[in-house]
Amino acid sequence: MFNESLDRFAKSKLKSLSTRGLYRSVVETYRADAVHIQRDGRDLISFCCNDYLGLTHHPEVKAAAAEAIALYGVGAGASRLITGNNPLYAELEKRLAELKGTEDSCVFGSGYMANSGILPALAGPEDLIVIDNLGHASMYMGARASRAKILTFRHNDADDLAEILSRERNLVAKCIVMTEGVFSMDGDRAPLDTLADLCTNHEAWLMVDDAHGFGVLGEGRGSAFEYHPYPDVPLQMGTLSKAVGGYGAFLCASTSVIDFMKNRARSLIYTTGLPPSVIAAAIAGVKIIQRDPERVARPLKLAQLFCSRLGLASPQSAIVPVVIGEEDAALVASKFLEERGFLVTPIRPPTVPAGTSRLRFTFTAEHTEAQVAALVGAVIPLIEDLESMSKITNG
Ligand SMILES: *Cc1c(COP(=O)(O)O)cnc(C)c1O
Repeated sequence: MFNESLDRFAKSKLKSLSTRGLYRSVVETYRADAVHIQRDGRDLISFCCNDYLGLTHHPEVKAAAAEAIALYGVGAGASRLITGNNPLYAELEKRLAELKGTEDSCVFGSGYMANSGILPALAGPEDLIVIDNLGHASMYMGARASRAKILTFRHNDADDLAEILSRERNLVAKCIVMTEGVFSMDGDRAPLDTLADLCTNHEAWLMVDDAHGFGVLGEGRGSAFEYHPYPDVPLQMGTLSKAVGGYGAFLCASTSVIDFMKNRARSLIYTTGLPPSVIAAAIAGVKIIQRDPERVARPLKLAQLFCSRLGLASPQSAIVPVVIGEEDAALVASKFLEERGFLVTPIRPPTVPAGTSRLRFTFTAEHTEAQVAALVGAVIPLIEDLESMSKITNG
């Protein structure tokens, strides 16, 4: 039950991570609601959850989940193609397609699974996938699994993408361009109008992962709906785990593309259906997004308040990064805020490029203006004099 070389391998890898300030550990955390968190016996105000609308603890969402458990039990019992396709799936998928203005949609187990399954279903070794170089790890996972040629374009740089498409497009059969609506670690938005035009001109299919835009931007419909007219995005992916507050993800597309996913996306076929309570929670969450525009608008408003008080550039989403630089310095900055009652976990490589370790602030509809003001007070000395702060907290 114990293999020495295996254990030695793990130990040496861990040691190397530690010496580079990259060791990570999971910390037991109790989330009382979207804002209040207990960790190591301390009460903290979280500014680092993706629960943008506070729906993880919304009474209506919780009630919907509880009711589904009473009706259907806790598990799906099988994959969607066997007996796991609970009737709630159809209701959720219809609602998502309506909200996104597409013919149909299909729900996946998670965002990671969606990206891992959609790309290999659509592309193969004779094709090309071009990804924004700051794209999420799950996109690269899917792209690699497809065995297509993978190229990256410089972050949000449409000219670089145009150059790549001009050079490469004619050498391959099909081409998919993949980006995020809102970048998860930077909070900036992709220029979807320009990217969509480029894709049209080069016969490429644009896929947008809108994990952080859905429920927050475009009246809750997502990043693409910030533009008028709406850019043509034939593959709209989003998650149910951030603004929607639960778990799972979706692809909105044409009827044929969705039907094809149910036949060919391995991460949909070879996995158990979501627990019915999770689907019911998502339906309740999407309903709230559709009927409560004030809640939807609030995370961005609070991010704007935070930035204007600190003299930072106006944010494009509910995510505000403050880049610290070195891994250790980001750890110290996070600890400094924790001592003042705020949880803002540091983001380090490989999640972000080396030397750009950062604090990533996220805002939710449930934060109060007073909480944001208190956070601003704690962040000011960090921004003004990070170095002297590190001496204080270390000493
Ligand atoms: C969180 C995230 C995912 C993964 O979604 P999960 O549902 O958590 O698996 C995918 N893409 C982006 C951009 C994300 O931020």
